[in-house]
Amino acid sequence: MEVKNENVAVKEKSLNFIEEIIENYIAEGGTHIQTRFPPEPNGYLHIGHAKSICLNFGMARKYNGKCNLRFDDTNPVKEDTEYVDSIKEDIKWLGFEWANEFYASDYFDTLYEWAIKLIKKGKAYVDDQSQEEISQGRGTITVPGKESPFRNRSVEENLDLFERMKNGEFPDGSKVLRAKIDMAHPNMLLRDPIMYRIIHTDHHRTGNKWCIYPMYDYAHGQCDSIEHISHSICTLEFDVHRPLYDWFIDELEIFPSHQYEFARLNLTYTVMSKRRLLQLVKEGYVTGWDEPRMPTICALRRKGYTPASIRAFAEKVGVAKRDNVIDLSLLEFCVREDLNKNAQRRMGVLDPLKVVITNYPEGKSEMFTAINNPEDESAGTRQVPFSRELYIERSDFMENPPKKYYRLSPGSEVRLRYAYLLKCEEVIKDEEGNIIELRCTYDPESGNGSSSDGRKVKGVIHWVSAEHAVEAEVRLYNNLFSKEDPNNIEEGKTFLDYINPESMVVTTGYLEQSLGEAEVGEKFQFERIGYFCVDKDSTANKPVFNRVVSLKDSWSKMQNK
Ligand code: ATP
Ligand code: MG
Repeated sequence: MEVKNENVAVKEKSLNFIEEIIENYIAEGGTHIQTRFPPEPNGYLHIGHAKSICLNFGMARKYNGKCNLRFDDTNPVKEDTEYVDSIKEDIKWLGFEWANEFYASDYFDTLYEWAIKLIKKGKAYVDDQSQEEISQGRGTITVPGKESPFRNRSVEENLDLFERMKNGEFPDGSKVLRAKIDMAHPNMLLRDPIMYRIIHTDHHRTGNKWCIYPMYDYAHGQCDSIEHISHSICTLEFDVHRPLYDWFIDELEIFPSHQYEFARLNLTYTVMSKRRLLQLVKEGYVTGWDEPRMPTICALRRKGYTPASIRAFAEKVGVAKRDNVIDLSLLEFCVREDLNKNAQRRMGVLDPLKVVITNYPEGKSEMFTAINNPEDESAGTRQVPFSRELYIERSDFMENPPKKYYRLSPGSEVRLRYAYLLKCEEVIKDEEGNIIELRCTYDPESGNGSSSDGRKVKGVIHWVSAEHAVEAEVRLYNNLFSKEDPNNIEEGKTFLDYINPESMVVTTGYLEQSLGEAEVGEKFQFERIGYFCVDKDSTANKPVFNRVVSLKDSWSKMQNK
C-alpha cells in the first residue's frame, strides 16, 4: 500500500502471513500472545534457527506477548547440557530474552498422566510388536495398514502393562504405547502413532527416573498446551503432523494451542542439518562448532558477524509459505552493511611488496592522521606511523600496466592514503625475475593530501610502515562448499566431496601498528580489502584475524542485473 505523507511516498511494509494470522486473532478479540522457541539440545544453533528465533521472539515483542524458551529434550540419547548452554548464549547474543525457560522433561509426569487418561478412554494401547512389524503394519499411502494383534487389549491390561513399562520391567524395544486412531487413515501419521518407547538411558535432567520417553508428536503439542502457547510456529515439514497435534489436544480436552507452519531457511553453499554439521565436527573437517566456516550462530559470531546483521538478514528473508533457497550473498550483504556503518577503518597489507623510499631520511619516522570511520564522525581519528620502508599490496603494482591502471607502475605516481605522493623509480627482481622490491621517491611537499604543484593523481593505495607493522595471521574464508547445493548429492558421492578446498586460506598480514592492541571480537575494515575480526586464537605475539566478508558486494550486483 502506498501512503502519501507530506509529499513523501512512504511504502508501508506489508505484513507477513504470521503477522496476518496474529492480527486477525487480535481483531477477533484475542489478547493472549504466547510463542515459544523449542530447540532440541542435540547440537549448536545455526542460521536457520536464528530465523526461527527472530520470528518467535519478534512476534512476541511486536504484539506485546511473551516467548518461552523450551528445550525439547525428549530423546535422552542425543542430548547434552553443553548444547543447552550454547543455545542460551546464542539467543541472548542475538538480542532476545525469554519469558520462561522450560524443558519438555519438566512435563514428563503430566504427559504420563495424560497417557493414562487416553488409555482409560480406550484411545491408547500397549503394542508388543517389534519396530519392524509396526512399520510394516502401517501399510503405504495406497495400501491401508493392518491392525496390531494387541490393538484390542482391555483398558485394565493396558494400564497394567504401561505402568510396568514405566517401572522398567521390559527391555528397550519390547513394547510401545500407541494412540488408537485409524489404521486406514489417509494421513499415515494417524495410523496409530507411537506415543512412548522404552529407552533405558539416563536423561541429562531427569537422570534414571524414567525409562519410557514420549515421542515428538505426543510431547510437542501438549507442552505447547501446558504453556498456553497461542501461536506455535514451526517449519513446513510439520504440516502433516498438525492433525495429530490437534487430535491429542482434542482428546485430552486441554488448552487449544494452534500450530502454524512457515518455510525453513535454506542457504546456498552450506549444509544445515545438525547431523551433517556434527559429522563435519566429529570427523575433523572443521576444528569445532564455532569454526568460522560453519553456518552455526557461534561460528558467525566468531567470524565477526554482529547480532544486528543477523536480525536484519532474518527480516529481509521474510516469512515464506513455500520452501526456497536464499543466496548466501544476502547474509554477507547484511553484515557488510552493518560493519560499513560501525567498524573502524585500518590499513593492512595481506600480500606485501616492499617499497624503499630512497629520498626519505633513514631512521626518520612521522605520524599521519587517519580517519577512523568516514560514516561516523564520532569515531574520530588516529595516528599512523610512516617511515622509509613500507609494504604495499602486490596487486597495487604492475610493471607493464594496461591503460587506466591508476595504481603504481614504473615512472607513475600514486597517493599513499593519508600520506605522500609516491613515485616508482626502479624495480628490483630476484634471479628468477620475481619482483622483490620497489625503489621509489616521495614528494615531501605532498603530505596529507596536498602536493607542491597542485597536481592530482587518480590512484590512492594503502600501505603500512614496515618497521612498525604488526605481523598477524589472517584467515581468509570462502564458501565451505563449492557446490551451490551440497545436499543434492550425485551417485557415489557424499556431501563431504563438495567441501571447497579453498574454504580457508591462511596468510600473513602486515597490519597498522594500532591493530596490535585490538581485542578478541573487535571488528575493522581493512581499507580496500574487507572486514576483519580478531579471533580468539590470538596470542600476545601474534594476533589472528578472521575475514568476516570482503568488500565486494555480489548481492547488490545480482539485484541490478
Ligand atoms: P535438524 O533437523 O537439523 O536437527 P531441527 O529442526 O530438528 O534441526 P530443532 O532444535 O528441533 O532442530 O529446531 C528448533 C526450532 O528451530 C524448530 O521450531 C525448527 O522448526 C526451527 N528450525 C530448525 N531449522 C530451521 C531452519 N532451517 N529454518 C527455520 N527454522 C528452523
Ligand atoms: Mg527437531
